Amino acid sequence: MKYHIWTIGCQMNVADSERLGSALDLLGCEATQNPDEADVLVVNSCVVRQGAEDKAVGKLQSLKPLKLANPNRIVALMGCMVGPKSDTLRRRFPYVDLFMRPQVIDDMIQLIEERQGTCIDNAVPLIPSRPAVSTFVPIIQGCDKFCTFCIIPYRRGREKSRPVPELVREVRMLSQRGVREITLLGQNVDSYGNDLPDKPDLAELLSRLNEVEGIQRIRFLTSHPNDMSHRLIEAVARLDKVCEHINLPVQAGDDAVLAAMHRGYSADHYLRLVERIRNTIPGVSLSTDVIVGFPGEGDQQFQRTLDLIREVRFDKVHIAAYSERPGTIAARKLEDDVPLAEKKRRLQAIEEVQERIATDINAALLGSVQEVMIEERKDDRWEGRTRPNKLVYFNNGHHKPGDLVNVLVEIASPWSLQGTIVER
Ligand code: SF4
Repeated sequence: MKYHIWTIGCQMNVADSERLGSALDLLGCEATQNPDEADVLVVNSCVVRQGAEDKAVGKLQSLKPLKLANPNRIVALMGCMVGPKSDTLRRRFPYVDLFMRPQVIDDMIQLIEERQGTCIDNAVPLIPSRPAVSTFVPIIQGCDKFCTFCIIPYRRGREKSRPVPELVREVRMLSQRGVREITLLGQNVDSYGNDLPDKPDLAELLSRLNEVEGIQRIRFLTSHPNDMSHRLIEAVARLDKVCEHINLPVQAGDDAVLAAMHRGYSADHYLRLVERIRNTIPGVSLSTDVIVGFPGEGDQQFQRTLDLIREVRFDKVHIAAYSERPGTIAARKLEDDVPLAEKKRRLQAIEEVQERIATDINAALLGSVQEVMIEERKDDRWEGRTRPNKLVYFNNGHHKPGDLVNVLVEIASPWSLQGTIVER
């Protein structure tokens, strides 16, 4: 059987799709990019923004003729569109065979086992047989925070960490299969271990993974300003494989908006945390997530977000315009009172400020030599990243993904660097 998995959304969805693909590989199926020739069609969905949900629905609808042409095909919807109850989805998409909640792929495995007459050895971890040199490793599922705008806790459930020994075993296997960089994933990685019996924390997990032979770089995503401990910051500074990059979503720079979002911190707390991170981790790069146009965000509140962005000078800002998500606290209790045109204007204002900041930060790297891990060859040039997560392009040298090379930076843009490989 051939399978086709289409994925939209966060890195966790990418990791879930990889895990499902690994299970299907173990069952003897074969991946295909072409939905027309697939026996198993999977849409891995995201509902964090309306736009992502619309795209997932469009993709699912495009599969309907394929299912009608061959009713033996299996069509499945997975990811955050699927909540605890799927009755409404079943009525809306009657041609879909399976509705799988995030991370719950057992129904699919069982169905394929029945069809193929094969079965999976439960002792084998579900990791790709040929993983990319840089691979995601989910360490904690779900989220306990219930930010008012966010649907994740309702769709992915409460926090559930994977035990340290299981993760060390998995990363060792990934290393043996050629992985050189891992990114530990969770909606809130900083609360890793709170739900485990001996309460290991992310700092401890990083220390254990830092010892895995063959792994050269370790990253983690996403942090929460309330849960980032000093122990964790010191671990990033101390452990040689842990890269100097932290994604620390601020979401807004105004205290009233932060309170309405139930973020649980003030702008001042965030700024002090940034200072502590920068004082402890030399050369750290910082990225953040921001939502504009949250209910009640007036001009003054928005200005405070813009001021915070100017003050921190992030390497990267992921900006989203607020869109009401049914089922969230904000959708139930707050009026979506910022007009769409104003949301777009604010989004653009941040983009412009951030573009200038990123231009300056990256221009400061011109003429420097950066250590880059090669990830892949695309459009006749190599692509890789520095430890602080700068995207770098270059086209000389005979190398392979996973190699560490030194690149002289010759061109800098707000989004990437370009250069030439040099000997140190
Ligand atoms: Fe959503 Fe907030 Fe949890 Fe992040 S921390 S996943 S925004 S509820």
